[in-house]
Amino acid sequence: MKKIAILGSTGSIGTQTVDILPSIDAEVVALTTNRRIDLLEQQARALRPKMVCACEEQAARDLKVKLADTDTKVLSGMDGLTACAAESGADIVVTAVVGMVGLLPTLAAIDAGKDIALANKETLVCAGGLVMRAARDKGVKILPVDSEHSAIFQCAQAAHGNPLAKIILTASGGPFFGKTAAEMRHVTREQALAHPNWSMGAKITIDSATMMNKGLELIEAMWLYDMAPEDIEIVIHRESIVHSAVEFADGAMIAQLGLPDMRLPIQYALTYPARVPCKVPRLNLAEAAKLTFYAPDYEAFPALNLARQAAAQKGDRGAVLNGANEAAVGLFLDGKIAFGEIAERVARALDTIPYRREVTLDDVLAADAAARAAARA
Ligand code: NDP
Ligand code: MG
Repeated sequence: MKKIAILGSTGSIGTQTVDILPSIDAEVVALTTNRRIDLLEQQARALRPKMVCACEEQAARDLKVKLADTDTKVLSGMDGLTACAAESGADIVVTAVVGMVGLLPTLAAIDAGKDIALANKETLVCAGGLVMRAARDKGVKILPVDSEHSAIFQCAQAAHGNPLAKIILTASGGPFFGKTAAEMRHVTREQALAHPNWSMGAKITIDSATMMNKGLELIEAMWLYDMAPEDIEIVIHRESIVHSAVEFADGAMIAQLGLPDMRLPIQYALTYPARVPCKVPRLNLAEAAKLTFYAPDYEAFPALNLARQAAAQKGDRGAVLNGANEAAVGLFLDGKIAFGEIAERVARALDTIPYRREVTLDDVLAADAAARAAARA
């Protein structure tokens, strides 16, 4: 029986992970939230983990009272999150927290020899070089949860040692597909949060609307599959049925298809290499009928070029791109800046923060802090 820790169990990916648990042979040893303690209490009573964490201190105090009659240990803060990742006795850690707060617990889990089911793409965007090196050194697997990266992982199993010539990363295009930058500039929070195909947390939903999400995924794919960014093509696919594809030297292209439902990639990361029945609805190709593909509009979605630039430069650029984006998305969600300003603030951070090619963990944390300050200024 696999022992699983779920970081961010109260979020979109976290709750879907809990949902597929009955399909797999697993024991949950740790759960975490930031402050949604009512849901965490329910999850803890159902799953009886060894430890839980509420990152917010007051939430953790309240949760301790709620779980006083159970054997579950209640922790708080970044130390608690890290303990849940590295000291809960897990075999595999699902990283489903949002944002670069996932970086330190992910590194701690790798250091402790845990496999990672990685949803938290910001970790790889900020510090992909450090994380992949640590995983190699420790011999741990980084199993992708992000649907596109899971698709690539599944397609790449046809490689049998042959290198991938190209990765084709599909993108739904989000709610503003077909609009110009001027038309998008002052869209509301509600319009930006209305994703056509996926129901996700607020931050990634805004990233999908700006298409920064696809930019982050480009960097995520670059690190996961050791690919040059110019060999990763982005293509708009409105139906979200083809989750991504790979191409080999002979031009053969292999794709993975399915209805848009995160429970399949989550489950596969947890059962790999085994395949077991999954509760997601099945794709009927005759019903899907038509699959469409378009080149992305780099002018309307400047975030794509910013991410391509950061991917090409590597060093601290991923941390700057991500930190500025997290801060700018936060400002937009709080009603402080226009939608069109998100990419402008990320561009400003990339322009003003001096570039560093070789990075340590401290450099990544410093770049992240500088980027947040630049984006908020
Ligand atoms: P959600 O916002 O739905 O959930 C995030 C989780 O992290 C919640 O449990 C939340 O707690 C917790 N959390 C938030 N802030 C902090 C913090 N500062 N410290 C500790 N914990 C925190 O996000 P998603 O599930 O949508 O996304 C999670 C990750 O997965 C992201 O990196 C995203 O890019 C990635 N991903 C998500 C997909 C999706 O379909 N949702 C698809 C592919 C990737 P609380 O409930 O208290 O807020
Ligand atoms: Mg994705």
